[in-house]
Amino acid sequence: MTNPRIINVISNKNLESKRTSKELAEKLTAKGFTVKYQYDVNAELNICVGGDGSFLRAIHRNKFPTIPFVGINTGHLGFFQEILPENIDDFIHKYMNKQYITEEISLVDAEVCTKEKCYYLSGLNEIVVKGARSKVIHMDVYIDGNHLENFCGDGMIISTPSGSTAYNFSVGGSIIYPTLNTMQVTPLAPISSAAYRSLLNSVVVPGESTVALKLRHRHTNSTLIVRDGVEFKYNNLDRINFTISDKKIYKLIFDKNMYWSNLKSKFL
Ligand code: NAP
Ligand code: MN
Repeated sequence: MTNPRIINVISNKNLESKRTSKELAEKLTAKGFTVKYQYDVNAELNICVGGDGSFLRAIHRNKFPTIPFVGINTGHLGFFQEILPENIDDFIHKYMNKQYITEEISLVDAEVCTKEKCYYLSGLNEIVVKGARSKVIHMDVYIDGNHLENFCGDGMIISTPSGSTAYNFSVGGSIIYPTLNTMQVTPLAPISSAAYRSLLNSVVVPGESTVALKLRHRHTNSTLIVRDGVEFKYNNLDRINFTISDKKIYKLIFDKNMYWSNLKSKFL
């Protein structure tokens, strides 16, 4: 007997997602696949049913799996989610005929160092450093050890290419194609005045670079770190080093033009 072809279906809890998952599972089963709702590490594919938030949570909950993902959009925006619920038959047909390409999605790693020890976070969209108490935050920004600026403002977003259409985009950062090997350092409400000078635009750095943010003394206990929408708080925070992660996420792309048509239809 040959090994079963296992597919994980990871769905959020809304009604439309549950209905879509049920239909998807029935259709996959009819084609001979074994569908798992409990994450199976032996699966060949992860299908995430929901919006972008569901995709982010599926990645974090399953610890950045190397099993490729495809998304069925039942979310509000669903920029990551290529397949529409009405196109499930077409998707299964193309999947079985290997009519897709696999794109590598990069993650941003943060080494968060307090005065005592360092902690590690990885983000798919971005990692944000911002004030926890509505005060202007001051931090020194270094790129590969070079001092760039003493930043003053609300905070800084370090975003991945695939996260560039999320928070980064809302604050005026550039859209970066997901397979490019870069990080974008985007200021949140930077102050540029006679009192303070901060860069007003984002900086796109090479994928091999390290971006370091060193907090000025009075912010060591009033700074928040937000990774893909989830808050983390540390005592005696000193500095954060950002790099592109060695870990990658794999996404199946069925239509190479989708990214551009999505940009137009979802953002304009
Ligand atoms: P959420 O509040 O539902 O997310 C806000 C919106 O961002 C949703 O419409 C979501 O799409 C969309 N989104 C998420 N990742 C995206 C991406 N890579 N490209 C384009 N749009 C994207 O919360 P969530 O669903 O848990 O997502 C967390 C993300 O929200 C964070 O990583 C951050 O990027 C973003 N965020 C944005 C702002 C802002 O724009 N001012 C502020 C805070 C956080 P779905 O509707 O499909 O979920
Ligand atoms: Mn959401």
